[in-house]
Amino acid sequence: MGAPNSALMCLICRPVSRRAFCAGALTLPLLPGHTRYGLEEPVLRLAPSGGRRVAVTLDCCPGRFDMRIASVLIARKIPATIFVTAIWMRENPEALALMLDHPDCFTLENHGANHVMPALDTTPIWGLQPAGSYDAIRAEVENGADAVEKATGRRPVWYRAAGGLYSPQAIPFIEGLGFKIGGYSLNADAGASLPAAMVARRLEAAQDGDVTEGHINQPKRAAGAGIAAGLARLADQGVQFTTLDAAC
Ligand SMILES: [Zn+2]
Repeated sequence: MGAPNSALMCLICRPVSRRAFCAGALTLPLLPGHTRYGLEEPVLRLAPSGGRRVAVTLDCCPGRFDMRIASVLIARKIPATIFVTAIWMRENPEALALMLDHPDCFTLENHGANHVMPALDTTPIWGLQPAGSYDAIRAEVENGADAVEKATGRRPVWYRAAGGLYSPQAIPFIEGLGFKIGGYSLNADAGASLPAAMVARRLEAAQDGDVTEGHINQPKRAAGAGIAAGLARLADQGVQFTTLDAAC
């Protein structure tokens, strides 16, 4: 197989607009990308691979560490992109060290400094505080990136919002700071809120090009067992795993 077409890949890896999502939603019902509360939930997909290539992404919002998921990633040698907050890294040094010890499985990217939503509005959503200004968005994104760089020695490339939601104006603003927007195409666990069997089924349905999203910071919730089971099933099915950094 020849080298991937980089121009095509860049185009497809860009978060698509709400309009583009709506057109595709007829055949891809699990795609996010609609507007909630006036905020955007960008879709990110990989270029078609000709096989079944999937990028697994998992979030470390504030919280702990789910070894059910980490054990599967390590045992099955599955590379995953982990979006970490600075708060989570401060509170979970042992788990951070474990991830740094397995760079083949864990690529750390930026989930913000304080898990503040990059929203210009001031209304909290799902208990998450909005930044409320461009200056506060910049601080959330850049301080988060600084923390990842300090921990890993590598400047993160990708940023994902707390809650996955952005003011429409925040997306080009964050890109202007030099970061790619870490959207996704398959929300596996709906904020770690779903039953394990449902999460596993949603994850197992990942198709070629999907960027899956879930949580690795909620070890006491059933959803994490579903992430672990779904990942094992994808590996059993011979899925080719990649990271956002490698694919986009
Ligand atoms: Zn989060």
